[in-house]
Amino acid sequence: MGDNRTPNGSANPPLIDRYGRAIAYVRLSVTDRCNLRCFYCLPSRFREFEKQAQYLTLDEIERVMRAFADLGVSRVRLTGGEPLVRKDLALLAARLTALPGITDLSLSTNATLLHRQARALRRAGVTRLNVSLDSLRADRFARITGGELDDALAGLMAAKQAGFDPIKINMVALREINDDEFEDMVAFCLTHDFTLRFIEVMPVGSTGRDGARHYLDLRTVEARLARKFTLIRSAVPGGGPARYVRVAGSGLCIGFITPMSQHFCQTCNRVRLSVDGTLYLCLGQNHRYGLRPLLKRGASDGELKQAIIDAVARKPERHEFHERPAELVRFMSMTGG
Ligand code: SAM
Repeated sequence: MGDNRTPNGSANPPLIDRYGRAIAYVRLSVTDRCNLRCFYCLPSRFREFEKQAQYLTLDEIERVMRAFADLGVSRVRLTGGEPLVRKDLALLAARLTALPGITDLSLSTNATLLHRQARALRRAGVTRLNVSLDSLRADRFARITGGELDDALAGLMAAKQAGFDPIKINMVALREINDDEFEDMVAFCLTHDFTLRFIEVMPVGSTGRDGARHYLDLRTVEARLARKFTLIRSAVPGGGPARYVRVAGSGLCIGFITPMSQHFCQTCNRVRLSVDGTLYLCLGQNHRYGLRPLLKRGASDGELKQAIIDAVARKPERHEFHERPAELVRFMSMTGG
């Protein structure tokens, strides 16, 4: 299309921020609750979750996402907290898949509750799956997350059977925590035909700053893997900010997500909607815009879309994790990872 039409066919210009970045992707947090407590994400005894009365309802979520789709957003990722703890997730997924303009619905999960829900979610139109998995050793998995490795593996295998494609494993690389397992994770992903992505830990909230004590620059991880495997530069569709290599002689792609060592803010194409209807314009900044008051006072679709346009105009240029590492008090699970 040569004009500014959205995938929806509407004539609205797509969402473009002050720095010329087109926003085509929303990370939709359906809950801030999580059944795990990864030490770099949520404090072990944390209970101060958003009250359910403040949650956007499924109708409200659908309405906001319809407005986004009208403004040119085509990709949505369900996230949290742990999205699988939200009731009726498959129903919501089906409603989002049905929205004109939404062409890609994906899910980020720890997979521990996926075993029972994988087929329903696949049927509802979720195609792509990101699964957090920081260790393949049960005792270590428990220490990092407070959960059971077997539950995550059962969920992963159910997802494979249900036909999700691709399935991406997200491993936060942590010095002295899981840095002896990178090669094992490569072997695991080779065996199961998963894509593997390493992630640098970010100082999001006090827990993120605890995690940052174990920070590893992924350039060193890549160099280490290159000594064992022949790595060929590669492109993966829908790969987001990850920089990919392929392991020669296999179909395995390995991505490196480097918000700390090589930030990719200049290509950021996303905003995050939290469970209470707050739009977060940057994972690493406090810029936000509350949409819930508009929904509650019965704002028109036009007002809602204008609010989204106004919010996107506030999107900051980049995170400042290095300059202001203590800036963020909120935990990752509140924003939607
Ligand atoms: N519960 C889902 C999951 O496990 O994927 C979705 C939410 S979780 C917050 C999303 C991702 O954020 C996970 O891969 C998690 O490891 C990552 N994460 C959480 N805190 C982080 C931090 N401080 N730095 C880097 N990644 C973090």
